[in-house]
Amino acid sequence: MDQNKFTRAEAWLRYADDLGLGPYYRDRAAPQPAERLSSGAPPEISAPAPTSSPAVAAAAPPRSSAPPLAPKSAAVPVFVPPTTGASLFEEHIEGDTLDRIRTDIGPNCTRCKLHKARTNIVFGVGNPKAQLVFVGEGPGRDEDEQGEPFVGRAGKLLTQMIEAMGLRRSDVYICNVVKCRPPENRLPEKDEIATCSPFLFRQLGVIRPKVICCLGSCSAQTMLNTNQGISRFRGEWFDYRGSKLIATYHPAYLLRNPPAKSEVWKDLQKIMAVLGLEPKKR
Ligand code: SF4
Repeated sequence: MDQNKFTRAEAWLRYADDLGLGPYYRDRAAPQPAERLSSGAPPEISAPAPTSSPAVAAAAPPRSSAPPLAPKSAAVPVFVPPTTGASLFEEHIEGDTLDRIRTDIGPNCTRCKLHKARTNIVFGVGNPKAQLVFVGEGPGRDEDEQGEPFVGRAGKLLTQMIEAMGLRRSDVYICNVVKCRPPENRLPEKDEIATCSPFLFRQLGVIRPKVICCLGSCSAQTMLNTNQGISRFRGEWFDYRGSKLIATYHPAYLLRNPPAKSEVWKDLQKIMAVLGLEPKKR
């Protein structure tokens, strides 16, 4: 298959994954039983949720012709990944710091093949004592050029989402599963994730945020060690080594599918309830 066909096919698989169709084309094995967070979940927000944050909506491009997300049917059993068992946080190192992790990665890391096309290693940015950490999948072109995560169009939308929550971008920490840009913005591959993600787990082990918000399938699947599509567990809470973990759609997906913004805003409201945040006043 030539590279263009491969890239298109991968984009469709990714789209299907976002719709929660992944298990049907990829994983026919019996899924694990659900193990949602049973205690400590945030209270339901009593006020009716707005369909979309004004700030997020203001950043939205015109509605595309892409089909809206299929609603999660109550009749369809929702399987969520296990959060117990081997812990990804076993990467935690006594006395670890973000500086030490950055030093351990080094300025010229060649541990995986993503080093070949990168310009900059994109370590992460934000408050090292953040209560909220956003985890994306990997740097894009703008991020690769600037060495900072989420600075392109999707990054601007993420910043507006953060501000809609009543926070500043500098209040939170933002990082990715892999630190180098996958060529043509493809998804990081398994071996690349396996090689680079221990640095992410160490970052989270140092910051120990109250809430981890996974942006998109790759991040959520890596953090929860599952290959279930994100729509199967988006908006659900997981207890992750003392942090509450929630997965929502990636801002890049929202740029392609603006109707999904209302779902993401609901997820952000759940985070706000946990952190005691009020929406930004206009
Ligand atoms: S993605 Fe991670 S492991 Fe791979 S070269 Fe970059 S920093 Fe090293």
